[in-house]
Amino acid sequence: MAAPPNRPPSVDALARAMASVGLPHALCVDLAREAIAAGEHDPAAVIGRAADLRRGLLGPVINATGVLLHTNLGRAPLALDHPARAMNLELDIRTGERGSRFAAVGALLARLCGSESAIVVNNNAAAVLLVLAALAAGRDVLVSRGESVEIGGGFRVPEVMEQSGARLVDVGTTNRTRLADYARALSLPGADVALALKVHPSNYRVEGFVEATTVHELAGLGIPVVADIGSGLIDANCPWLPGPPPAWLAGEPAARQTLAAGAGLVTFSGDKLLGGPQAGIIVGRADLVEQCRRHPLARALRPGGHVLLALQRTALAYLDRTAVTSVPFWQMVSESLDRLRARAAAIVAALGEGEMVPTDAVPGAGSAPGATLPSIGIRLEGDRLAELRRHDPPVIARVRDGCTFVDLRTVHEGDDRDVVAALRDSRH
Ligand SMILES: *Cc1c(COP(=O)(O)O)cnc(C)c1O
Repeated sequence: MAAPPNRPPSVDALARAMASVGLPHALCVDLAREAIAAGEHDPAAVIGRAADLRRGLLGPVINATGVLLHTNLGRAPLALDHPARAMNLELDIRTGERGSRFAAVGALLARLCGSESAIVVNNNAAAVLLVLAALAAGRDVLVSRGESVEIGGGFRVPEVMEQSGARLVDVGTTNRTRLADYARALSLPGADVALALKVHPSNYRVEGFVEATTVHELAGLGIPVVADIGSGLIDANCPWLPGPPPAWLAGEPAARQTLAAGAGLVTFSGDKLLGGPQAGIIVGRADLVEQCRRHPLARALRPGGHVLLALQRTALAYLDRTAVTSVPFWQMVSESLDRLRARAAAIVAALGEGEMVPTDAVPGAGSAPGATLPSIGIRLEGDRLAELRRHDPPVIARVRDGCTFVDLRTVHEGDDRDVVAALRDSRH
């Protein structure tokens, strides 16, 4: 005769056993109920499931991948602090009248880029969608066949175009598109061209027999030119850096220069090379920005106050020329190799294992594809990724040729102690 089944533990006893995991008690009670209903009575297994849920929550991690703008790690790192207070989001303090949430930060961004006006939406995909819907719904938009691209997680130019209600008109060929190709499309009988869209093919390069038309050339066609530059470099001269622009930035389009070349509007992400929060920024001619602002989609795509505040701080840091010390992305970029070497040596000494090695960090997020930044890492025997992720805070590293690499260019110096502790705990 089979032994009678054990009496199931009480919901309360199970929930209390989960207390150390650090989830809200009511959630533990729920999990305990679900476990008992599913016939799972082993407290250790139930606690393990709760711990798993806890580890799946959002939180800070240490990016030791050497990818500066890591899409899975939230792209540009940024502090988020604001008191639990009201904000003058849509109130003009000077007049006491209703104000626009875009006014302050838009004016700063416009000044930064040398343009008339600017507005902000939730991301650059939203920025392109809004521009097309506001300026070209029901009309034609000229796009070079070489720029009808897919970027990152599902941003596909033809699909965004379709959603906006604008009609995509392919111009030229995949590798070569000349001004004459645009001019021909413009003069076709029945053509109703609202604008020409230039899209920076951020995450890939076509090499060899290649020719593209510049914004400057297109600006002579008499239709607005909209340039999606993607990565959000503000100024190709990088006046916020102590030295000349870094070599890896060569060829990356910049907002200021694209506007100066005659673009009516430029769109870019807030959390790529700008180093700000996730946002989509539209800068350019006041009349075109105003058309975007008035479109009903602008209301649906508008960011919240915390995003605008973070973006305002970022813009002020650039205007103050302190971006290199106060924008975390530019801090990472400008950390000297000597400093990285000293940190790596200290970490290796504290650990008593591992080896300091030169590495190649990369900008990431589709910015400057193929470019690398010299960096310094620590190489350790074996694949330790899972153990490093289990640390609190989790450390995200890389594995190559059976070794674990921790790249210090993307690690904040203040986190070196945690890196040591995580590496110590990761020993097999
Ligand atoms: C990154 C990128 C996008 C998408 O920007 P998100 O801010 O991620 O929405 C669109 N266009 C270009 C050229 C890009 O590089």
